[in-house]
Amino acid sequence: METSSLNIKTSDNWALFKHTERPLLLAGPCSAESEEQVLATASRLQKIGINVFRAGLWKPRTRPNCFEGVGEKGLKWLVKVQRLQGMKVGTEVANSHHVEECLKAGIDFLWIGARTTANPFAVQEIAESLRGTDIPVLVKNPINPDIELWLGALERLNLVGISRLGAIHRGFSAYNNLKYRNMPQWQIPIELKRRIKTLPLFCDPSHIGGKREYIQEIAQKSMDLGFDGLMIESHTSPEQALSDARQQVTPETLEQIIEHLVIRTTQAQADDMVIEDLRERIDYLDNTIMETLVSRMKVIEEIGQYKKSKNLSIFQPERWEKILTHVTEEARKNNLPQELVERIFKAIHQASIDRQTEIMNE
Ligand code: PEP
Ligand code: MN
Repeated sequence: METSSLNIKTSDNWALFKHTERPLLLAGPCSAESEEQVLATASRLQKIGINVFRAGLWKPRTRPNCFEGVGEKGLKWLVKVQRLQGMKVGTEVANSHHVEECLKAGIDFLWIGARTTANPFAVQEIAESLRGTDIPVLVKNPINPDIELWLGALERLNLVGISRLGAIHRGFSAYNNLKYRNMPQWQIPIELKRRIKTLPLFCDPSHIGGKREYIQEIAQKSMDLGFDGLMIESHTSPEQALSDARQQVTPETLEQIIEHLVIRTTQAQADDMVIEDLRERIDYLDNTIMETLVSRMKVIEEIGQYKKSKNLSIFQPERWEKILTHVTEEARKNNLPQELVERIFKAIHQASIDRQTEIMNE
């Protein structure tokens, strides 16, 4: 089986974390919004025992005209957190300019966001501007479920001399929204860890879940799977946050979440993970079937209206014959029971006829 030989420094937990017990904890707001918000969040987080603070300054937003972060001026706020709270601070970098500003300001660690990890040009640019330093860098998984891309980003950083590396699992984008904002696909981070055994692995339940009520269960799952740490978004007034408002928790709620975590000494059962993954894929496919059915019924709606306007008959036997022949032939080619496919399509066809009949009589 493929493995990767990255030179990773692990002995001191890169001098970021005061203790080495699981979970290593990182928390802070999705975005730094104001000096007051940053300082107040950091102070409340420090009270609950967090000593590594995160806040996004340059925000990669999916759509334009959203809050895109406060940019450079937030660096001063992070430096104040270092000074006033004695916390280690980090932010997301997406290009060499960001890196240079962070290095100048003396930021303790950096992370690369999911959208950036997906772009090797950007990762290489970041790596080049980090050459000669050994600042800790955490690499989020790319938005698409491509382990090679994730590994590639870690390798690019390692090749310029960064040995204080970690990976953050924040889930993968999907067209169909399932329960979570991003699909966990746990087998991918687990495989990454298998390939690079010394790589500290963090879970970001805020971005996986997309809603604060899921943070607990996702964090627990990651602990059961043997993850080393957690990065959780925390805001003094989550509902008012300028980005990712639904997935942030107050420092006090975060304390509860941490208290409720059960940290087992054994690694999770591989079997459990396999089932979890298979179920996730089944849910995804069921959703796809549902979406297809909805789309099909919409077309039926249109065809019903059209037939009505042209006074055409609803049931056209030769058309139905053609559909049925096509799907049973596909079933045969793909080794699906033909009888099953026939039953499903007969039911769908019947529903279409019923709906068109309703339209005719409307
Ligand atoms: C974030 O951490 O706020 C962020 C933008 O995350 P991601 O890159 O995982 O979307
Ligand atoms: Mn966020």
